[in-house]
Formats: sequence, C-alpha cells, structure tokens
Amino acid sequence: MNTKHCVECHEHKQLTEFYKHSGMVDGVYNKCKLCQRGVQRVWYDINKKTHLSNVANWKKQHSETVQVQQQKYRDDNRDHINERMRASRINNPELFSIQSKKYYYANKEVYRQNAVRRRLIVKAATPKWADFSKMRQIYKQAHQLTEDTGIAYEVDHIVPLNNLLVCGLHCDTNLQILTADANRHKGNHYS
Ligand SMILES: [Zn+2]
Repeated sequence: MNTKHCVECHEHKQLTEFYKHSGMVDGVYNKCKLCQRGVQRVWYDINKKTHLSNVANWKKQHSETVQVQQQKYRDDNRDHINERMRASRINNPELFSIQSKKYYYANKEVYRQNAVRRRLIVKAATPKWADFSKMRQIYKQAHQLTEDTGIAYEVDHIVPLNNLLVCGLHCDTNLQILTADANRHKGNHYS
C-alpha cells in the first residue's frame, strides 16, 4: 500500500506526500507534508512572537550593554557594513529608504545632538575672515559631482575641526572634495 491517511486533512495520499519519520511504524509522519508545514508555521509564529518579545525585553533591561555591543560590532565590521548598505541602496532603494527613515526616527535624539555639536564645532572653527561665497562654491561643486556621476561626494576638512592634536579651520583653503567612501575612511584622522 503506497497511500496513507492523513490525520489532519483526512485525505489518502501517496507516501511521498509524507515526511520521513523513523519513529513511526511505516517510517513516515501521520500528517501529510502540507499539514505538517501548516503545523510548523503555526508553531513558528507562536514561538517567533515569544522569542522576539524575550529579545526585546532583554535589550530593554540591558540597553547599555547592547549599545556597547552594537558600537563594537560597527567598529569591527565597518567595511562590511558599508558594503552591505551600498548593495542594499542599489538593489532595493525603496526598502533602503524605509529602513533609513526607521533608523533615523529610532535614533532621532542622537542625530539631533550630533548635529547641534557639529554646528557648534563648525561655528567655533570659522574665522571672521572666512570667504563664505568661495566655500558655498565648493559645497555646490561637490553636490554637482554627485549629481553628474551618481557617486556620493562630500566636502571634507583637510585638517579636521575636532582632531585631538590639531584644530582645522572652517574656511575655503581647508576644504577638499572627497568621495563619501574616502571621507568615511579618513574619518577624524589627519596625517
Ligand atoms: Zn494532510
């Protein structure tokens, strides 16, 4: 006999329609593959919810540990993360933009604080004699390069404004145009 009764859907099906199970007399489960998958899906959904909420709770209770771990992961895997982000930006721009927005809103306060701090640093580093029209020109040029090539270009301070050893000025002679990638790699370093 090559067919078997499924205890779930009560259909008689070919043995190949059942998953193998060494514990059963005839070597297959008593539920057909389709029903078995349904059961697994239900179990998965129930467990997934519990699992996710456990994870969320743990993270809430250990938010400092999580932050340190996340930062360490970002530091250790910077190139890998950048590469993955670039791929996702290219392959799935819509999803990338949704995720970026989600991330932004989740970290809005950090962004805001960084922006404020950045503005203060820039303000303090701007000399009275700075030529704003020349500087605007450089920012415009970077923007134009990005538009023309599709590669992200940024304006970088040759001597960083917030390096521990040297303190650059926010003025046109200290500005250079770099690709965003090159700028990431340069970071806050100056040599
Ligand atoms: Zn069935």
